[in-house]
Amino acid sequence: MGQMYQDAMARVRKFGKPDLFVTFTYNPKWKEITDALLPGQTTKDRPNLVTHVFNLQLDALLKDIKDGVLGNVIAKIWVIEFQKRGLPHMHILLILDEVSKIRTAEDYDSMVSTEISDPICHPKAYETITSCMVHGPCGPDFLNAQCMEQGKCKKRYPRFFSEETRCDVDGYFEYRRRQTRIFVDPKTQRVVDNQWIVPYNLHLATKYHAHINMEICSSIYAVKYLYKYVYKGPDRATVVIERRANMPGQDNNAQVIVANGEWQNRDEIKAYLEGRYVFAFEASWRLFSFRMHDRTPFITRLAVHEPGMHTVVYNDNASIFEIVNSERNQKTTLTEYFQANIDYPLAREVTYMDFPSVFTWTNGTKKWTIQQRGCCVRRLYFISPSASKRYFLRTLLTKVKGVVSFETTINGVVHDIFKSTCIALGLYDLDDEWNACLEEVVGMRTGAQLRSLFVTILAFGVPSESCMLWDKYKEHICDDCKVALQHRGIVEPSIEQIESWALHSLWDALAKFSKTLEDFGLPTPYVAFD
Ligand SMILES: [Zn+2]
Repeated sequence: MGQMYQDAMARVRKFGKPDLFVTFTYNPKWKEITDALLPGQTTKDRPNLVTHVFNLQLDALLKDIKDGVLGNVIAKIWVIEFQKRGLPHMHILLILDEVSKIRTAEDYDSMVSTEISDPICHPKAYETITSCMVHGPCGPDFLNAQCMEQGKCKKRYPRFFSEETRCDVDGYFEYRRRQTRIFVDPKTQRVVDNQWIVPYNLHLATKYHAHINMEICSSIYAVKYLYKYVYKGPDRATVVIERRANMPGQDNNAQVIVANGEWQNRDEIKAYLEGRYVFAFEASWRLFSFRMHDRTPFITRLAVHEPGMHTVVYNDNASIFEIVNSERNQKTTLTEYFQANIDYPLAREVTYMDFPSVFTWTNGTKKWTIQQRGCCVRRLYFISPSASKRYFLRTLLTKVKGVVSFETTINGVVHDIFKSTCIALGLYDLDDEWNACLEEVVGMRTGAQLRSLFVTILAFGVPSESCMLWDKYKEHICDDCKVALQHRGIVEPSIEQIESWALHSLWDALAKFSKTLEDFGLPTPYVAFD
């Protein structure tokens, strides 16, 4: 999932921010399902049926999107998830081309609705909206509702009425939500108006009769968190069974033993495998080998490794002898880039980073060939400065053209240590290096990850301009702190509070290296927290 997230961010760098975020949820009332249930059965008794029908609906929806019902799509990702009770849903993120971009209030209103449909003009949509697109019930009378946190709905329902679509300061859209009509839920007698309607697309709601939430996201600032949400993986719970150590008559080699509050003999891999929870719907989905995710266009991932230290994919039943001696397993995008530089003069005109714009990588043959058409999206694996050797190799590969081996000859001297090569070529200016390192990742790493990277740079790299780096990148380094403070009950945190929260976090992390913020001339937190 981590690699797919980084691929997604590479697509954002190439094509821009996503425009639409669609969540498609399975509907147990689909006719194809209810017609096929035997007397006395519910959908829970037929996971095979549920998964087959959802898979067919999903294919139809993806085909509609491909055919342009939401505009011309130039990049998309989708992921299947199973909720706690096991029902499947799909998240889709779409990037549209310039012609289809959603810009004006009219564009917004034609794409997304948040009002109860007209039962005369759109009877099918009315049926779907009233049965699938109503949020809640939640609020003071339903404090145990899933969406309730500290007495408030996390999803901000009921929303305000609004005569027109408008954008708020955080980049979230308040769609047009006029005070038009109401309906009464026949089962619960709950009176529902437009304040409770989840945003939807009229065409898709009419056609699919399911909960299809559609949001326009092109103006959301923190795009990386949107992709992170999509690639977060299934819900997880950790269950711990404890056993006292040295209890008479009990097996002291128990898998999990707690003594003096400390874990001992804890086999994390075994605990993960045995503790994994798969509901019948997910099991069925996987047994039928239905797809769990997809994305277009594909990304060429460029490996960066030391000699013989690359990743190898092999079959379970292959012997270690076969794996080690397979010629194919010796080849990577990097080793074959060296070879291509020997074989083709054209190859020597571009760096490794830009190689996929001229050459195409074929994984089947493990070869670079001159590209005939189109332009591929590429991503060079990010290497942390703490991985010293590979970090300098990566620096070399992004700046030097025509590299043919792990050894480089400069002025008659052979350098096989990447750092010494960088120094010999004058590519080693630490402050520039750390600046470039942060510049590259601010758009794709979360605030917490950036703080961890910043601490690594401070602890291992000792930049002379630490304070300049903090000032330049603090907006990104702090970009998750506002939400963290809001979760602590500070509704509108000030800039001082946000930066102080991040500085406290840096302070704690630096303490592990016996360093302090003052050692690097960084400001101390302006505000204290409990
Ligand atoms: Zn709610």
